[in-house]
Amino acid sequence: MIYLYNQNVFNLPRGTRDFTSKEMQKRRYIEEIMRSTFISFGYHEIQTPTFETLELFKAKSGQEIIEELYFFKDKGDRDLALRPELTAPVIRFYVERLQMEPKPLKLFYFGNCYRYDRPQKGRYREFSQAGCEIIGTDSPEAYAELITLAYKILKNSGVENLKLNIGNLTILSSIFNQLKLTKEQQKYLIPLIDKSMFEDVFDALKDFDIVNKDAKDLIELLKTTDIKIVNKFIKNNLAKKELEKLEKILTLLEKAFGIKHFQIQMNIVRGLDYYKGLVFEIEAPILGAEKQLCGGGAYDLISLFGGKDSSTAGFAIGFDRTIVALESENFKFPITKMDVYVIPLAEDIIEKAINIVQTLRDQGFTVDLDLLRRGLGKSLKYASSINAKKAIIIGPKEIEKDSVTIRDMETGEQKLIKIKSIINSIQ
Ligand code: AMP
Repeated sequence: MIYLYNQNVFNLPRGTRDFTSKEMQKRRYIEEIMRSTFISFGYHEIQTPTFETLELFKAKSGQEIIEELYFFKDKGDRDLALRPELTAPVIRFYVERLQMEPKPLKLFYFGNCYRYDRPQKGRYREFSQAGCEIIGTDSPEAYAELITLAYKILKNSGVENLKLNIGNLTILSSIFNQLKLTKEQQKYLIPLIDKSMFEDVFDALKDFDIVNKDAKDLIELLKTTDIKIVNKFIKNNLAKKELEKLEKILTLLEKAFGIKHFQIQMNIVRGLDYYKGLVFEIEAPILGAEKQLCGGGAYDLISLFGGKDSSTAGFAIGFDRTIVALESENFKFPITKMDVYVIPLAEDIIEKAINIVQTLRDQGFTVDLDLLRRGLGKSLKYASSINAKKAIIIGPKEIEKDSVTIRDMETGEQKLIKIKSIINSIQ
């Protein structure tokens, strides 16, 4: 007998989940909606491995990423990591094999990600992302289309209440530079800005000897939802051009793509090191603390991974969190029904019953049959429990007449039908 030193040795690892078949039905249903939305926007699905070299993620996100990674040495002494996200793997794939593909290259993916996060509702150590990258264009229409796609995926999935926030990191960086904030100081400010802790930002700016007026102006900029206010603070040309582009993106988003509900939000600070220009986030306010469903923007990674520079932008949607948002909004997921449940009532009828099952399956119906020989009453109960629409009952009397009894599981109505006419009567 195996003696367990630790009772928990066979339990589910912290931050991971098992999914029941009902949960899997919901997940597959939403995944299919997301997939067909990506495809309708001209994106093509790809897949990359679950683990990559540790170096890939360190190169993208810096040494600090180690804290949140699952990493290990393999038997060949290679340093590997379970992917915490998919942008770095996709760009690695692009640099290795896809650089010659016609542009723009529109790629999408679904994949499990692993982060040593503190688990809570909507935050797991193993979770799934649905995301995409567009490579080879930075036109305002490409970016407006990208934001529209992210928004539509969540809307089509059924999330009712969404908040779309759009910012720009080039503008934010240029204002940091105007104030002569050092990289270290920016690094200190970013998490505070990200969490909208504006009083702490203000205190830090004072500690960094930023004059009162400039500190107040920066706070006003970070809080504003009015693009005209942003304009007021911009002095350098690069930032001015970015603002013009942002205005074009917003106009296209509203007037051409028909997305009416969005907000300028200058305090979006996603990985300031490799993101540049456009950034956006979509939240489901109903989720409270873990409300961010999607994050995206334009970024620079290709040259870092040794490729020929090309414009890149993309986003990642938290798949699990989307499901949590739908459940919180009481979304009615469709119930998957079985077309037919076949019940042979005697041993010598089983072969005939299986013939019928196979014919129906070959015609594309979902069909199951009684494998326990448990009699009519119990079999009908089981047929209800698996949401069968119809039951086909085959007893000696039916066989005599070359027929079966078809029972409508909702109404209880039963009809004797010739075997050769079964398909017509279960359509
Ligand atoms: P990020 O790559 O951090 O921008 O994440 C993109 C999206 O993935 C977020 O908006 C979340 O919806 C989702 N996400 C990030 N971390 C987790 C996690 N630990 N558990 C579940 N979803 C997550």
